[in-house]
Amino acid sequence: MQLSRRVRALKPSATLAVANKAKALAAQGVEVLSFAAGEPDFDTPPPIVAAAIESLRAGHTKYMPTAGDPATRRAIAEKLSQENAIPGVTPEHVVITTGGKHAIYLVFQALLDPPLPGEEPWDVLLPVPAWVSYDPIARLSGGRVVELPTSAKTDFKITPEQLEQAITPRSRLLVINSPSNPCGTMYTPEELTLIAAVVERAAASKAPDLVVVSDEIYEKITFGGIPHFSIGASPAIADRVVTINGMSKAYSMTGWRVGYLAGSGEAGLQVAKACEKLQGQTTTNVTSFVYSAATVAITACGGEVEQMRRAFAQRASMIYDLARSITGLSCVKPTGAFYLFIDVSALFGRTSAAGRRIGSAMDFAEALLDEHRVAVVPGEDFGGCGANHVRMSFACSEEQIAEGMNRIAIFVRALT
Ligand code: GLU
Repeated sequence: MQLSRRVRALKPSATLAVANKAKALAAQGVEVLSFAAGEPDFDTPPPIVAAAIESLRAGHTKYMPTAGDPATRRAIAEKLSQENAIPGVTPEHVVITTGGKHAIYLVFQALLDPPLPGEEPWDVLLPVPAWVSYDPIARLSGGRVVELPTSAKTDFKITPEQLEQAITPRSRLLVINSPSNPCGTMYTPEELTLIAAVVERAAASKAPDLVVVSDEIYEKITFGGIPHFSIGASPAIADRVVTINGMSKAYSMTGWRVGYLAGSGEAGLQVAKACEKLQGQTTTNVTSFVYSAATVAITACGGEVEQMRRAFAQRASMIYDLARSITGLSCVKPTGAFYLFIDVSALFGRTSAAGRRIGSAMDFAEALLDEHRVAVVPGEDFGGCGANHVRMSFACSEEQIAEGMNRIAIFVRALT
């Protein structure tokens, strides 16, 4: 079988690979403490489940409009206008997609082209470390990824000056993901406003086609005192921001696969229509009986979201304190999402109790899984200094956090 060059060059998702490995071990009866997938451990709130069951019973089992049920699109447009203060968003600007991931795929496909012979590719400016799928999706869409390196010193955030320097006439997309997966940190509204000003200036001069893709899937999970801010709320660049979000993280609906994208103004309408066209030729529409559930989530589940947010806040401070108490590990205090991003590079060159040499984050993660049955995601595929890190998702119980960190402490202490 001759597979396409595109797919042969495609890396499998590291986050899903570790999560699947942990699930496969668990299915064989091996007790694994998994900190791999970014998947809340809570049940989907009952009113959301009830709405889906009711919808199914009411016979909503047929094709739906490609961009989504009008009532749900309206609820999303209202949320983005009122809660996120993004101007120029109407229901027509919203496309409901198979999870946030497919929204990103559609937007990249709609805005990037593979280079013509003799042409330079379009650049995707990607602050790194970044979630594992932006880079492969950019490549699948014909784009060239330009990594903007960050480090723990700036809480893994790019500076306006750094962005200014990176933008060229080939810059097509800038990815912003705040709160960040995998870093667990957030931009302040002031920082994003400065970044928006850089985008505005660049768009008026050297990069007229620059668009910001703002992935806000973790917007509800914040606990560090920094308010979430949508860069699309900056009026001067609103029409060149596509906002991505979804139900998975805020409402504990990972398996439902419901996400969305939204543009603003005339340009945003064009992007939404392009993504709708692509969706019409690929997935058609999101499962028909989940729309009303998504509407209930967005309009009526603030209390449930707040309860989960509090639990994440508690877990964040617990896992951070435990990690800091282990000599050889260092990490930045998480302020949003549910990830602790741990620098393990001080341990490189050491050997585990079972005789494994730890030369990389991957070695660390593999040895930890084999020897102590704790699954973490090695940071190599997050890009940049991610290679010195492992990511732990703390979307799990406090008991699991306590036991997992205890095993990690034993593992690290035994390194020679
Ligand atoms: N976004 C989650 C994570 O980073 C789920 C898996 C994935 O899509 O990568 O773990």
